[in-house]
Amino acid sequence: MQFRDLKKQYEALKPQIDKAMIDVAASSAYIMGKPVKELEAELAEYVGVKHCVSCGNGTDALTIALKVLGVGAGDAVFVPDFTFFASAEVISLEGAHPVFVDVEEETFNISATDLESKIKETIAQGQYNPKAIIAVDLFGLPANYKALQAIAEQYDLKIIEDGAQGFGGALEGKRACGFGDIGTTSFFPAKPLGCYGDGGAIFTDNDEYAALADSFRVHGKGSFKYDNVRIGVNSRLDTLQAAILQVKFKAFKEYELDAVNKAAKLYDEKLAGRVETPVIPEGYYSSWAQYTIKLKDRATRDAMQASLKEAGIPSMVYYPTPMHKQTAHTPYGPYAEDLCPVAASLCDRVLSLPIHPYICEEDIEMVCSIVLKSAL
Ligand SMILES: *Cc1c(COP(=O)(O)O)cnc(C)c1O
Repeated sequence: MQFRDLKKQYEALKPQIDKAMIDVAASSAYIMGKPVKELEAELAEYVGVKHCVSCGNGTDALTIALKVLGVGAGDAVFVPDFTFFASAEVISLEGAHPVFVDVEEETFNISATDLESKIKETIAQGQYNPKAIIAVDLFGLPANYKALQAIAEQYDLKIIEDGAQGFGGALEGKRACGFGDIGTTSFFPAKPLGCYGDGGAIFTDNDEYAALADSFRVHGKGSFKYDNVRIGVNSRLDTLQAAILQVKFKAFKEYELDAVNKAAKLYDEKLAGRVETPVIPEGYYSSWAQYTIKLKDRATRDAMQASLKEAGIPSMVYYPTPMHKQTAHTPYGPYAEDLCPVAASLCDRVLSLPIHPYICEEDIEMVCSIVLKSAL
């Protein structure tokens, strides 16, 4: 059994994907070819924003977003303590100061309550200027943008939505990656919408931000390629990846997103009442980047993972270490032992099970039988 079966997906889409790849090879427009522009328009329309600027990967998308917002030395950026390292890494890379915020036990996403207290603390300390929030749509579920927007307005902060795992999710009918001042996503193969290598994108309604992002991704270009008006990066989405994404995006919209939601529902039905299954609050829709259950403690979780492994079933611990306990973040501390208690506890208790649009009911049944046996 595969954790995320990309081979099955390729088999389902093979004729279209093969044709798309060969067409790009024959076109010789390998950088910024037609499929890139076409895909950007398709993605912007789906997300419901004016602009999509594609780039090299999801980490670069966040870096470019921070550059667009002018985040740098002396600025504090608030980020959840429970996320993939890249969400926080980009803050330090820009010379800004990461402030780690606890998450909600139910949704795994940034806690608005703790965010406000961390903002107040930062203001009281007076060392860094609160500038932005990087909210993460963890495991496919959008963060609580209503609460976050109210806080951002009150404290005059910008919001970046890290939708690397959230693409395809929604909140009250509005699609993920369209929240905040800038939204970003990743097309890493295992993400909800993945390509065959690295890829990413930036989303915004703001014309000025879109123009800046377009400049930053190509060495800070000005009126033309060899007019460089700011220090930028080299981060473009390959034409080949864009062409592959066009095929995969069609399948994503037509049936994959539905299929992965059906798989999650099957898991819910089989596991409900026996282990803590993921909570999707009223009005939210998940794109199920991960299906993550919670166990009693680390020993129970580790024993379950071992039982699954023995049965040939892959599972993952996303994430074993809170951001503030990562070695790379030691210079930003020292941190109190109880800085983010929920995040710390989740790191001990979470387990992500195999899920993807092509998983069959028998496989889900098999995973659940081991999980339930081990949870006794
Ligand atoms: C994957 C991921 C990223 C980084 O995306 P890459 O394309 O791998 O650079 C950033 N944030 C989160 C939450 C992710 O899951």
